[in-house]
Amino acid sequence: MKGVHKLAVVGIGKIARDQHLPALAAQSGFELVACASRNASVEGVRNYPDIDALLAAEPALDAVSLCAPPQVRYTQALAALEAGKHVMLEKPPGASVSEVEALHDIARARGCTLFASWHSRAASAVEPARAWLASKEAGAIRSVEVRWREDVRCWHPGQQWIWEPGGLGVFDPGINALSIVTRILPHEVALRAATLTVPSDTSTPIAAELDCIATNGAPVRAVFDWRHGPVEEWDIDIDTDAGRLSMCEGGKRLSIAGKEIDLGREREYAALYEQFHALIETKSSDVDVRPLRLVADAFLTGRRIETEAFGR
Ligand code: NAP
Repeated sequence: MKGVHKLAVVGIGKIARDQHLPALAAQSGFELVACASRNASVEGVRNYPDIDALLAAEPALDAVSLCAPPQVRYTQALAALEAGKHVMLEKPPGASVSEVEALHDIARARGCTLFASWHSRAASAVEPARAWLASKEAGAIRSVEVRWREDVRCWHPGQQWIWEPGGLGVFDPGINALSIVTRILPHEVALRAATLTVPSDTSTPIAAELDCIATNGAPVRAVFDWRHGPVEEWDIDIDTDAGRLSMCEGGKRLSIAGKEIDLGREREYAALYEQFHALIETKSSDVDVRPLRLVADAFLTGRRIETEAFGR
């Protein structure tokens, strides 16, 4: 590690408090100096109502971490990049693919780091799974099945933005599975068909099914459902010539050909901030839009089925 970078967190809500602030408190590469949020504040740092006030008052700031919902990601990221700050984006990196690509261009032009983070890729099962699937030992991949089902009332209580355009609906968690699949498979994945189940009173789906194909011809099928419970299911099964790789609990557990693999301690957000720090130090960016592109393709090609009102 080299420099210590002055950082501000923008959008103090569930994920900022659950993960970002604790990870930053234990992180030596960043000093949290300020926050910006319309209704919330954080003790021990300077607080501002929005990102424009933050940027105007904090010229010595090096970086910002954006934790508000995706519909405001582009405007906030643009303001930060225009001010010459390095930017870390919560997932999804934007409400559209074109927004994220535009931000990447601006970051390059400004010489700033843009990190489109995918926290599920930092789950402890992901890199061992990727290494095994790329090895000769695994042989060919035959099929991939993703089951990402949870109770929306438990995981997103009172969140209205998830039901609004750009909020992604069930793809808000589902994109985590897609971020893992696109990271661990040694092949690209193309969407062939999708079904989106949309309540009559929401703009975004409560359930979705995706039929994709990997470039080696293996089928990749994903089922996302927010009407599931009480125990959530965040599982990926990959059948290969050498047996099944199963990733469970969102990447916290891994078994390969029937053998449970011993994984290290879970440290998703600590790892994300280490990665952001390394990107700044090496003057580089990490912007992989493939998970968001699969979601965008599902909205583009998916058959829409209306279902009963959610009652939000
Ligand atoms: P949240 O608590 O509903 O929102 C975060 C904060 O953003 C809010 O408290 C609000 O703070 C601010 N905000 C909301 N709407 C805004 C707007 N229109 N303009 C400016 N600020 C606004 O949501 P969250 O669960 O933290 O999720 C935020 C992001 O993190 C999402 O992209 C989500 O996918 C991702 N994420 C969430 C989780 C999770 O478990 N919740 C896990 C991983 C990633 P103020 O009212 O004070 O401005």
